[in-house]
Amino acid sequence: MRIVIIGGGLAGLASAVALTERGHPCVVLESRSRLGGRASSFLDPASGTYIDNCQHVSLGCCTNFRHFCQTTGLTEFFRTEKTLYFVGPDGRIDPFAASALPAPLHLAGAFARLRYLSWRDKLALGIGLRALARGVKPEERHLPFSEWLVRHGQTPAAIARFWHVVLVSALSETLDRIDVEHARKVFVDTFLAHRDGWLVDIPTVPLEDLYGGRLTEWLTARGSEIRLQATVEELEMYGDQMASARLGNGEQVVGDQFILALPFFRVHSVLPAVLANRPEMAAVERLEAAPISSVHLWFDRPITELPHAVFVDRLCQWMFNRTVLSNTAPSEQGYYYQIVISASRELAGQGRETILAQVLAELSAVWPVVGTARLLRSRQVTEHRAVFSPVPGVDELRPLQQSSVSNLQFAGDWTQTDWPATMEGAVRSGYLAAANLLRHKNPGVSIVQPDLPVARLSRWLMGIRKPIERRPDLQE
Ligand SMILES: Cc1cc2nc3c(=O)[nH]c(=O)nc-3n(C[C@H](O)[C@H](O)[C@H](O)COP(=O)(O)OP(=O)(O)OC[C@H]3O[C@@H](n4cnc5c(N)ncnc54)[C@H](O)[C@@H]3O)c2cc1C
Repeated sequence: MRIVIIGGGLAGLASAVALTERGHPCVVLESRSRLGGRASSFLDPASGTYIDNCQHVSLGCCTNFRHFCQTTGLTEFFRTEKTLYFVGPDGRIDPFAASALPAPLHLAGAFARLRYLSWRDKLALGIGLRALARGVKPEERHLPFSEWLVRHGQTPAAIARFWHVVLVSALSETLDRIDVEHARKVFVDTFLAHRDGWLVDIPTVPLEDLYGGRLTEWLTARGSEIRLQATVEELEMYGDQMASARLGNGEQVVGDQFILALPFFRVHSVLPAVLANRPEMAAVERLEAAPISSVHLWFDRPITELPHAVFVDRLCQWMFNRTVLSNTAPSEQGYYYQIVISASRELAGQGRETILAQVLAELSAVWPVVGTARLLRSRQVTEHRAVFSPVPGVDELRPLQQSSVSNLQFAGDWTQTDWPATMEGAVRSGYLAAANLLRHKNPGVSIVQPDLPVARLSRWLMGIRKPIERRPDLQE
């Protein structure tokens, strides 16, 4: 069986790993000169080193991404943060860590100690979290999450300093553009269902080392072929079956099975009209995108020893201390920090100097040394179509992995996975596509990993039955 995978992002790579591991090597066709797609690095000409397009992190609840890393030997390149450092509006830093109590009480003390929320805010928060955990009422299902919060009595400070802070990082969107079920999933899976769901895994090396280096070796050593700079122009059918992928140079790559793992905004360009015009594919064209920006800074001295920080009520949302996270001496470029700004639409039209000045002013307010340190270099990167926006009703636009053509699967964070646009969502989609493909021969095959189990006390106190009730057609 010759399997052709189009797209070397995490969805395509996860399919390739799952199939290769089960004795079915694949051909991966990737248009760019490196793997990883939206989770990748670029060669920085000034330093000759790889820099990530943006810091990518994963959470403890990302069971499929974790499985993918374990299978391919990537786990050693991550470190797990067991304390988060929240920087309040007044610049004070509140460490946030779990106690020994079982979920969902493990983080109660940490919430209680956050100094930038009043007791009234915290009470509202507790009530809101419980209501969300218990499930979304049918009449609230298509509300923007901002409206749900107001209906459930959330204070302006709780909204700005808690709900927004968590969701803009997790979903890269503003509260008025978030589906209530998507918001619910974030809080249930991350904070309420299991005591490890919220732990943050951060790569210690550039993404290129993960997906370009180790993963390429893993796949090729097991017989799969990676073809870079192989842009697919069109998928070609023979009768009612997919037959080949035609490349830009005219070459036809024939196959028995195909997995199309492109970003949602590229899929239509390669589909034959008969498929592109189907209602489920027309819906994909209605998906909207959200941008994420990163500001890379190199200073002549350390500005903080913290590995990361989460900012509240600021333009900057996260700081990643790359020098500390990579556990290396500062490079010739200096001490390297990365600032992440998700849902960064408001930056459009602002000059780079304006953005840089605001970022530096915010950092100086927390770490005064920034005012005296010399900024050796800076760089700004914006991915305009970083993720699909989880707007109300978004899941109705996402197709299943099995297309209407029996030997064509879709994979990608935008397909039906029950997850938002994340590395976990991409890997899940790849596993689901691989399982569909193998199921023709082996109906019992199972690839998708189970979610973290819901703690008994979380069921009892919060009424959580399962992390999220999965759609029956997504069950393996
Ligand atoms: C700035 C930024 C920050 C993010 N931060 C996080 C984070 O912290 N945590 C997290 O979990 N997720 C994060 N994400 C989201 C995550 O990166 C994506 O959800 C995930 O990588 C998507 O993988 P994918 O395989 O579905 O799509 P993609 O990564 O887009 O892969 C599709 C691949 O197809 C290739 N391709 C396109 N056209 C063709 C063609 N014609 N022929 C052949 N190949 C083609 C592309 O080059 C690409 O490699 C972030 C995304 C961005 C952009």
